Amino acid sequence: MPVKQEQLRPSGSENTQTCSQNPTSVETTQAPTATLAPYQQIRFGDKPFGRQICLAAVGSEALLPLLQLWSQLRQDYPKLVLQLLLFAADKDSRAESLKVLQSKLPLGQTTEATASAEHQTSEVISLLAELQAGKPLAIPGCQRFVLDGGRLTLDLYLEFDATLLKELPGVNHNGWIDNWLWLAEPLPSQAEVWQMARLAKDYASLLCLPSKRSALASIMVNSGLNIVDFNGPAALLLTQQTELEPIAKAERLALRRQSNARLAPWPLYRESTLAADESIAIIGAGVAGSQLALSLAERHQPSQVFCSEENAGQSASGNRQGALYPLLTPETSELNTLFQQGFLFSRRRITALVAAGFDIAHDFCGVLHTGFDERSRTRLNKIAEGQNWHPDILRRVNNFEATELAGLDIKEDGLFYPLGGWVCPRALCRAAIQYAVESTYCDFQRRTHISEISREGSHWWLSATDGRRFGPFKKLVLASGASLTALPQTSALPASPFRGQVSEVATQGGLRALKTVLCAKGYLTPAWEGIHCLGASYVKDPEQLAYSDVEQRENLQKIAMSYPDADWHQGLVMGQGARVGVRMVTRDHFPMLGQAPDVEALMQVYQQHQHTPESARYWQQTPAPVHPGLYVLGGLGSRGLSTGPLAADILASELCHQPLPVGSTLLQRLNPNRMWMRKLIKGKAL
Ligand SMILES: Cc1cc2nc3c(=O)[nH]c(=O)nc-3n(C[C@H](O)[C@H](O)[C@H](O)COP(=O)(O)OP(=O)(O)OC[C@H]3O[C@@H](n4cnc5c(N)ncnc54)[C@H](O)[C@@H]3O)c2cc1C
Repeated sequence: MPVKQEQLRPSGSENTQTCSQNPTSVETTQAPTATLAPYQQIRFGDKPFGRQICLAAVGSEALLPLLQLWSQLRQDYPKLVLQLLLFAADKDSRAESLKVLQSKLPLGQTTEATASAEHQTSEVISLLAELQAGKPLAIPGCQRFVLDGGRLTLDLYLEFDATLLKELPGVNHNGWIDNWLWLAEPLPSQAEVWQMARLAKDYASLLCLPSKRSALASIMVNSGLNIVDFNGPAALLLTQQTELEPIAKAERLALRRQSNARLAPWPLYRESTLAADESIAIIGAGVAGSQLALSLAERHQPSQVFCSEENAGQSASGNRQGALYPLLTPETSELNTLFQQGFLFSRRRITALVAAGFDIAHDFCGVLHTGFDERSRTRLNKIAEGQNWHPDILRRVNNFEATELAGLDIKEDGLFYPLGGWVCPRALCRAAIQYAVESTYCDFQRRTHISEISREGSHWWLSATDGRRFGPFKKLVLASGASLTALPQTSALPASPFRGQVSEVATQGGLRALKTVLCAKGYLTPAWEGIHCLGASYVKDPEQLAYSDVEQRENLQKIAMSYPDADWHQGLVMGQGARVGVRMVTRDHFPMLGQAPDVEALMQVYQQHQHTPESARYWQQTPAPVHPGLYVLGGLGSRGLSTGPLAADILASELCHQPLPVGSTLLQRLNPNRMWMRKLIKGKAL
């Protein structure tokens, strides 16, 4: 596929640099040469693919200067992609930090009013509005926002401490942050400073306000991070040209080794990055494959997508309506973190594609979750009490509120996910593929069923059932849904296919009033174009894809059992409208993403290393065997709409060697080799 070679040059002369003296003003002036003398502008030509830089900032007050910086850069460097990590955390709690951050957002004011009140350009205001529409919430972990058509990725953390930083993997033996910016009131601890240094590139500086300079300098001693006055957004692009002190160098290396060693069982960034014109092959164009193509296109990394069917979203992702809400558990678990972040990311993806002009039927009308027997009621209670959920994620409602929210008589108390709702999955898949194709970074191969993949030298080749061959590819991603285990290389992956039938019922009687998605023993969506979706069956018979009368009746029975005293479902005429699909389910409900484990090699090594403390150490320290260049994105189960888009973006970040929006602990839970490695590193038998 032809890809434009990019020239990352300022639109003016190569030596032109802009610098704002006042961080809240976006006026640009020529930077005095004297100020810039010891520094040079970060050389874009040296970046991966010559087009990405990564900045990390600490403090809730950092948001505006960063967005001002971006509004300048995006014009000067039309092909530049910026990765921002914002630790908006100088307050005691996440909620407090978020309040400070939100005070910068337009919050319903008109663009003009906010722009004039805050002296912001309309460009900054529109970025703020985009951020606000993406619903930043006071939840744990990273919230990823892809803004400005994919050119600006903002990873928002509402906390900052050494434990969090330790979780963030570096890329191989290097860091990835081009410069740090310190705008928080409290000073960093020594442990935090070392982790900041570990994640920084060797030439990175720490920029701060002049008033903090001497205090920070005393803490930064030996870290290797040079302190530079932050005198405006352009300063963030400056970097001092000094060699790292030997102590700093040794310390960083030791920390990086430690961090890499922790990830030995969980392969990450093992393959080198690709050239800007090398395509990544993706098998599958469901939620997983199409979202991956989109995430890669945003990174200007070409892909070639192979799909058995005529169009994207015709397998499991082909339903008319799918419920979108997080799967939560009573325990404080990685699953909760993933689902909260993933569900919000999916909402952002849908909103952004719709804003870009794609027609994706959806309604963020909320999801009402009620129990239907003692066990399920107890479970929902435990979930509600398990944590201090953000009220926009989940809140308890009594049966009166439930009735009011649903528009139908609901006699149960329950849980309400206010930001949830439904989306048409196939429209989401088609929009994502179309976006990627129109951006010229994706070649979509319809009706191309891949029957075999083979490794020849250092490349993968794909053979289609009609005899065509495709390749060579250095990286190949299997996003093939229920067929994930159909190829010998991945046949041992622990995921199982389950058939499901969703009934499509014409709206009628009391059902017309339904306003939210209902979820109990089954689910029921509000009508779209006069049809509700009701489902879904769950049958371990993935080969049988024909319509089933039995499952159609079961779907109706589930609604009757969920709301036994209500009359709005009495006499419901079902018809035979239905759709059958197969979901690929993992036992622990985590998706699978990352390099494909070489299970055969793993089993061979296991013959020599098992059951002893030494063998546990061996598995902890030795890179787990993988199929080089082969990746997996799947196991999305019954909630793929909530996790698929984020899972795809995580994998795209890994494939392009960019910072990930998840820490090492969660990465371990997502790795396709987890079932084996979690036992082996504890010295347990397989
Ligand atoms: C009945 C049912 C109801 C559901 N309801 C919901 C819901 O309400 N909410 C929710 O979040 N999730 C729901 N899900 C789950 C969700 O739909 C899935 O998690 C998601 O669609 C999986 O996406 P995927 O891309 O992994 O797989 P799929 O959508 O199945 O895509 C697989 C792709 O791979 C291609 N492919 C496979 N093998 C090959 C090959 N050899 N060569 C070329 N192409 C190949 C296929 O053509 C297809 O494009 C439901 C699933 C089902 C079945």
